[in-house]
Amino acid sequence: RPADATAADWRAREAAHTVYGWQPQALRSPRLFTHAEGSALYDQDGNRVLDFGSGQISVNIGYSHPHVLAAMERQMRAVTYLAPSFATEARLRLAEAVAAVTPGDLNHIFFTNGGAEAVENALKIARAVTGRWKILSAWQSYHGATAMASAVSGDGRRLLSEPGVPGVARFNLPGLWRSAFNETDPEAEVTLALEAVETLIQREGPTTIAALILEPVVGTNGLYTPGTRFLRGIRTLCDRYGILLVADETMSGWGRTGAWFAVDHAGVVPDLLTTAKGITSGYVPLGAVALRPALYEHFRDRPFVGGLTTEGHALACAAGVATLEVYHQEGLIARSAERGAWLLDHLRGLQDRHPCIGTVRGIGLFTCLELTADRNRRTPLAGTGPVPATLSREIAARCLKAGLVVLARQDFIFIAPPLSVPQTDLEDGLAILDTVLQWVDTLLPG
Ligand code: PLP
Repeated sequence: RPADATAADWRAREAAHTVYGWQPQALRSPRLFTHAEGSALYDQDGNRVLDFGSGQISVNIGYSHPHVLAAMERQMRAVTYLAPSFATEARLRLAEAVAAVTPGDLNHIFFTNGGAEAVENALKIARAVTGRWKILSAWQSYHGATAMASAVSGDGRRLLSEPGVPGVARFNLPGLWRSAFNETDPEAEVTLALEAVETLIQREGPTTIAALILEPVVGTNGLYTPGTRFLRGIRTLCDRYGILLVADETMSGWGRTGAWFAVDHAGVVPDLLTTAKGITSGYVPLGAVALRPALYEHFRDRPFVGGLTTEGHALACAAGVATLEVYHQEGLIARSAERGAWLLDHLRGLQDRHPCIGTVRGIGLFTCLELTADRNRRTPLAGTGPVPATLSREIAARCLKAGLVVLARQDFIFIAPPLSVPQTDLEDGLAILDTVLQWVDTLLPG
């Protein structure tokens, strides 16, 4: 706890002046952690809590990595921040390092402060380059909480900021647990999903559509993997109609799925790629938009459509360079694929023992359990009968009490530990989850 606060009063002081995102302020009851290392958080009494949410699925390299801390310290002693019109070695080195791992020729990097800002800027770029204004996006998506990012998001969080921005039309993804197309054959469903996107393009008017944005592996909307054929089909449709494809890899990037970027699994190169989170593992806020040369060329003789006071922040970029070095040096991308396969297998084992688990999905160390009241009928659990709609909150609270952070939302429990998680931590965390799932089983009807 803060040195000048007693155990009794820090909560009251905190509630008096801080405002938290998303939740009603009266409902929050945050736990105070004083430090973090590797995949664990520690409180003032030295209690160790495993973080299988990796912060907000952002701390991919684990907490307090000495290589990144040392690089940040060196950068702080030199200069933490300069006006963005000046060059810093940190920014140029990070741009080089990012361009080296982003797919294809996504070689030009504009740095922002986070994911939503990356999305805002990518869509502005798409509108400026095409001279069109509409944006297509997936219902199964979250792209951030600023005006445009929220407007193109599909999930219910966007309703909190409506009326949104005009000119957004949405499509469904294939491969959902409850098919949006009433189709049981996965291949037939992909065909239907692509046909529906093409119909949407034609109805909206192809020459009005600047960009199509999607998460190539969907994060907080249920960890769906729309798959290679769908992503390639979307690439083809975008090319056919002159629409720019934006891959939002804010959450799915930086090894989370077992590849540098989720689009790599499909061999698809988007026109713009947005990212944040794992680029610095959250040590300092930073986001980025990667552009292909043809888009960059558009701005050679015209002003770029945006700018930020802390664009290309030197300390953030130095943290980013060191974070990328850790991914390379520790082989974390391959490790995510390998550990992720073990994790998925283990979660399937949990599914065999817990009737509350409807299905298990994942790719790399990016996995999700979906709860159900009835596995055969695929009925939701949260909000069904006597089960409270706030079930996910209770699950997260029980896990936390037992020493494990999980991110849970609706019927989804996400398991996404740092890519560096030791095997023993992985097993200890899953043992806690197992116990909490036994409690969830008792809520099932009948
Ligand atoms: N895009 C995706 C896919 C995300 O998952 C998120 C955040 O979780 C964002 C954008 C927004 O990023 P930020 O919270 O850094 O603005």
